[in-house]
Amino acid sequence: MVPPDAAPPIRRAEIVTVGTELLLGETVDTNGATLAAALAARGVDVYWSLRVGDNRARIREALEVGLARSDLVLTTGGLGPTDDDVTREAIAEVLGETPVVDPALEADLRAFFARTGRTMPERNVKQAWVTPSVTPLANPHGTAPGWLAHLERGGAAKVVAALPGPPGELGPMLHDRLLPRLSLPAARLWTRTFKTWGVGESHVADQLGALAEGDNPSVATYARADGVHVRVAAKADDADAAAALGTPVAARVEAALGAAVWGRDDDTLAGVVVDALAARGATLAVAERASAGALATALADADPDGVRFLGSMVGWRVTAEDAPTAHAAQPDGGHAVAAAHEVRDAFAADTAIAVGDVRPVDGEGGGVQVDVAVCDASGDHAESLRLPGRSGPRRRGRVVTGALDLLRRRLR
Ligand code: AMP
Ligand code: MG
Repeated sequence: MVPPDAAPPIRRAEIVTVGTELLLGETVDTNGATLAAALAARGVDVYWSLRVGDNRARIREALEVGLARSDLVLTTGGLGPTDDDVTREAIAEVLGETPVVDPALEADLRAFFARTGRTMPERNVKQAWVTPSVTPLANPHGTAPGWLAHLERGGAAKVVAALPGPPGELGPMLHDRLLPRLSLPAARLWTRTFKTWGVGESHVADQLGALAEGDNPSVATYARADGVHVRVAAKADDADAAAALGTPVAARVEAALGAAVWGRDDDTLAGVVVDALAARGATLAVAERASAGALATALADADPDGVRFLGSMVGWRVTAEDAPTAHAAQPDGGHAVAAAHEVRDAFAADTAIAVGDVRPVDGEGGGVQVDVAVCDASGDHAESLRLPGRSGPRRRGRVVTGALDLLRRRLR
């Protein structure tokens, strides 16, 4: 076994996520994304990420292919106790070693079951396996320890590591047990993401112009449910150098995007709105129809103690007689203004937003329209959000984003 400190730094890693459910599309491969993001942040290049079913021969093939072209192959899944969990068997074959039960791991495993008042099913004993090259990685959140092994391929030092499938076990093991044991490059990736709403991806590209042409820092745009995101990424020999490289380009990107930017990095639009309410010492009430409670959910997530967001009234059904006439009688969003006043008084808030019903737009472009009204100390303000003619949760998401963005602009 090559000790980690003597090994050259890992420059290139490959991800192998194991599970037939991933290939059937029943489980979304979030582990692949978790690992990719963590490795990128540590300056490790990931050129390949592969999904493979619960099949020993094919897992082994994926490992061999990965070890031939990458320094590190990182797997998730297939560490359960049942016969279809065969990642350990495949790694043992690649190492040319035979698994044996490790008495200390077995004792830990039995203790884990005893703590929850259960006796360990005998099939779980395979989770206490190791081979001579394997360092087990403790799993405080579950029964399956991870595996870390150093080996050689084509005269080069290689590393293979296996992490458990459940995302709640994978994350802590990756950060607390695995990454500290790896010889990682000093190079770091610095990133900053600007989040926009109300401008299309090609318009953003026009605004960025030549800024988007660089390699390092790179500037990339992504159309997401909460608007177009623009990510600046800079890679350099250490974290300070990467930040120094990325920061000036990020400043130019932010200036180019202007008022469309509502947040950065981990910001959520609801969080930005709650922060703006807090900065003003304001409270908010919501009346919503088209968003069907989703606006309240987003705000409650951002303000779990209900300090700023006081409550919401949800009304979804509109009778056939009411719907067209209510809109026809008040095409200026008057019904939304009235609802905002009503809910503001009901919750004794100082600010309120009301989201009206969805109604089709006739003629050019089609789509739908939703009236939104905000009332606050400076008066009433009504706008119509114009949306593509989608239905269901996607449209609801856009209504919520549009309504929150209107609030954000009013509170600014
Ligand atoms: P396993 O270790 O293969 O028994 O996986 C246990 C559970 O972890 C599975 O039932 C999934 O719910 C979850 N899981 C496994 N692999 C992934 C993955 N790549 N992304 C997200 N969840 C996963
Ligand atoms: Mg599995």
